[in-house]
Amino acid sequence: MNPPIVVPRPAATVILARDTSDGIEVFMMQRTTEVAFAKGMHVFPGGGIDPTDHHEEIASLCVGLTDDLASNTLGIEKGGLAYWIAAIRECFEESGLLLGYRHDDELVQLNEHEALRLSDLRTALAENKITFVDVLKAEQFRVATDKIAYFSHWITMPGRPKRYDTRFFVAQAPVGQIAKQDDYETVGQRWVRPADAIEKSRLGEIDLMFPTIKTLESLSRFATVQDLLDHAREPKPKQLMTPRIGTGRNGQPEILVASDYAYAEIGKIDPQGAGTAKTYIEPGIPVEIAPNVLRLTAANPGMMTGPGTNSYLIGTQETGIAVIDPGPPLTEHIDALIKAARGPIKWILCTHTHLDHSPAALELKARTGATLFGMPPPPYPNQDQTFVPDVIVTHHQRLRVGGADLRVIHVPGHASNQVCYLHETEHLMFTGDHLMQGSTVVISPPDGNMATYLASLRLLQEEQIDFLAPGHGFLMDKPKDAVDRVLIHRQDRENKVVAALKTFEQPVTLEELVPVAYKDTAEKLHKVAMRSLFAHLQKLVEEQRVSYANDRWLLKR
Ligand SMILES: [Zn+2]
Repeated sequence: MNPPIVVPRPAATVILARDTSDGIEVFMMQRTTEVAFAKGMHVFPGGGIDPTDHHEEIASLCVGLTDDLASNTLGIEKGGLAYWIAAIRECFEESGLLLGYRHDDELVQLNEHEALRLSDLRTALAENKITFVDVLKAEQFRVATDKIAYFSHWITMPGRPKRYDTRFFVAQAPVGQIAKQDDYETVGQRWVRPADAIEKSRLGEIDLMFPTIKTLESLSRFATVQDLLDHAREPKPKQLMTPRIGTGRNGQPEILVASDYAYAEIGKIDPQGAGTAKTYIEPGIPVEIAPNVLRLTAANPGMMTGPGTNSYLIGTQETGIAVIDPGPPLTEHIDALIKAARGPIKWILCTHTHLDHSPAALELKARTGATLFGMPPPPYPNQDQTFVPDVIVTHHQRLRVGGADLRVIHVPGHASNQVCYLHETEHLMFTGDHLMQGSTVVISPPDGNMATYLASLRLLQEEQIDFLAPGHGFLMDKPKDAVDRVLIHRQDRENKVVAALKTFEQPVTLEELVPVAYKDTAEKLHKVAMRSLFAHLQKLVEEQRVSYANDRWLLKR
């Protein structure tokens, strides 16, 4: 039995920032080594939400913010205001800095007497003799909830004994107050430029947790505190940051964020956060990506194939095995497929017949007697003419193979005979090259067609899919977002092609157009880009926006 996943505890952190002639500085405190969490680390002030942070009395002392507004900003139903209060309370407890208003509506600045009085109240608060409300009431202060802005959202990765669901806030550091660590939880403090803190951590001078490093990285982009606050106050939802941990190539743990390619897959195959899933793709080593579904990658890495072509094996000894995309005709890979199969291979399914996807079907069928499924190859040299399917699949056909119900979805565009196979119980779609990770799919006419491709992409929006299992790369989640991204990217490219055409008064060749339409792309990729450019032009010709004659194109005006 796996241990239960620890439920993250709600928490709040505040980044106090101030302007200097050399950019912004932020306030960091060093935690004692005597605590269970973040021993000896440099952190921003913060901590867990306390039940007292939810009291109505303290809500009435908050300036410029209601619980509805706060909850709405955080994207939760209620209780949002408590995060603002906790951030300000924890900051006061740990550093003595109080983001508050005096009774005369001025921000809290402290003369020597007031500072001493407040210091005594802070001690009583730390000893749990009074609450934060008592401190505020004693000094007739109100909480400057209008002065701190929501910045980011982090949840500690699964697999850690202590987990926090932390909202990060940013604020202008209070003027006229002097910070003093509590010498209990925190033993040191410093004002530091974000880039310098990262550098100190790199040199081993200070210890930082992963979310702190990532936060400092994003803070280092801002020139002034005002820029930072303006950014935080932009009314758009903050991306949830939940790091995940896997095993890197050197065998060491590697922490990943959502933009890393292996991130979605690790969340699926290692939900407990054991850290055993690999952060890289290794040809010849099977990976179980769903119950009774293995991925085995061929050793054909390259610019067009990424880490290599993925073959998928579905089934058990009892059901027999279906292989999706046996890959290039490498005997070593075919041997590995037969070895990895947990039962006899009975079915071979191909997503399309490009030379990196289907040619191994011939030898694999000869060695196993499996039945071949797919659509026959179009008559072009970049197509596998050895592929002769026993069963020609059709759109929305249902196949029962390897104990799984697969539905065929015909998605012409990348290739006219491209199909996806949707594993209907796992909500897992084997996409071939219809969508791939990290790069845009090449659409190469005459067999490839841009307008058809875009229409086929929209087909996926109608399906219930949790994960995409592409022909190249890791599992991808949020398929609808992935499709949207590609649609936006293609529209953006089309706009660039039209803009490039506008700069020419006379008809132009592909060679003349590519450096203009793809000036944002590395020159070594222009040869490949030419194929997609051709596809874009073909679409524009079909739409009668561009005329074509003698291998030259001209924008209609
Ligand atoms: Zn392909």
